[in-house]
Amino acid sequence: FLAMGALSYLWATPGVAPGFFDMFVLAFAERLFRPTFRKDDFVLGKKLGEGAFGVVYRASLKKKPSSKEGDLVLKKATEYGAVEIWMNERVRRACANSCADFVYGFLETSSKKGTEYWLIWRFEGENTLADLMQSKEFPYNVETMILGEVQALPKGLEREDRIIQTIMRQLLFALDGLHSTGIVHRDIKPQNVIFSEDSRIFKIIDLGAAADLRVGINYIPKEFLLDPRYAAPEQYIMSTQTPSAPSAPVATALSPVLWQMNLPDRFDIYSAGLIFLQMAFPALRSDSGLIQFNRQLKRCDYDLVAWRKSVEPRASADLRRGFQLLDLDGGIGWELLTSMVRYKARQRTSAKAALAHPYFDREGLLALSFMQ
Ligand code: ADP
Ligand code: MG
Repeated sequence: FLAMGALSYLWATPGVAPGFFDMFVLAFAERLFRPTFRKDDFVLGKKLGEGAFGVVYRASLKKKPSSKEGDLVLKKATEYGAVEIWMNERVRRACANSCADFVYGFLETSSKKGTEYWLIWRFEGENTLADLMQSKEFPYNVETMILGEVQALPKGLEREDRIIQTIMRQLLFALDGLHSTGIVHRDIKPQNVIFSEDSRIFKIIDLGAAADLRVGINYIPKEFLLDPRYAAPEQYIMSTQTPSAPSAPVATALSPVLWQMNLPDRFDIYSAGLIFLQMAFPALRSDSGLIQFNRQLKRCDYDLVAWRKSVEPRASADLRRGFQLLDLDGGIGWELLTSMVRYKARQRTSAKAALAHPYFDREGLLALSFMQ
């Protein structure tokens, strides 16, 4: 069983062998040649966010403020910062384009507050998907950002659908990168999706609640970290049959098998499905709208089709318009949405399968996405 696990670890899962290799060799080489930083190298700027586990600032380097590296983001994190540094290092080597560019992370012990982890990223841009979705103009305010040129189509459902489709493709692409690396994010929400001005794509941020199942890091889910607005109904990443983490080497050998059994990646797919839903239905973009939707869906036993049946007859114009958008092209968007938001994790589509869904298979746009 162990040998099978080890073999599948090395061979059967695409993208795993390089992950194995880089952990031991590239990581070492990188340590030697990458620049290192310490507390005094940074100037702190505006506060960008504050959570239970850390504070995030804009920052710059004291020395070369004019260089590209001068534009940074700094997170001062509590004890969970250690896991977040690990995740970011791993992502940078295995699937760099999925997440914000990580620069460096270190333990800062001289702080008055005791032990703090400092994490540094490149500043990707001013806007998270949450910021952009708050605008009345959404999704048109995103159009030129991601498609480069304004569509020839007149304003309307079809044009909005194309923009939403491009955002969903980029989000699923980033998720597929993480999942292929063996990482489950567990906190996918519009606030943790940032628009990268340089690469003109959406990237994922905030790996503070992520789990790396291939090596058993943060193996036991910290369910108190999960955002209830976007969390899938299972909440726990691994089934109750695997209540505790095996020691790291065993987890390494077994984790592809456990991954197959429990499909922990589908947790993120559910959250991504809720983002899709919010983009289609403006009424569900507010906290209260989303919370109300979650209550309704729970009452329908997490059956989206049943939910639709219950709300459509007395739906507002706004809600009807959302259904119309998802019903375009024979309901292909609705089909994708319902394959993401399902009660049972194993019935949800994977990120890779979702990317191959006919919803994304439309001429013209494909060419555009390749050009990015
Ligand atoms: P938290 O744990 O507080 O949620 P996040 O990592 O999500 O921490 O960062 C908080 C906020 O800081 C984000 O919502 C985003 O607005 C901003 N932010 C984080 N990383 C970046 C980045 N690389 N570039 C630009 N803004 C960022
Ligand atoms: Mg966050």
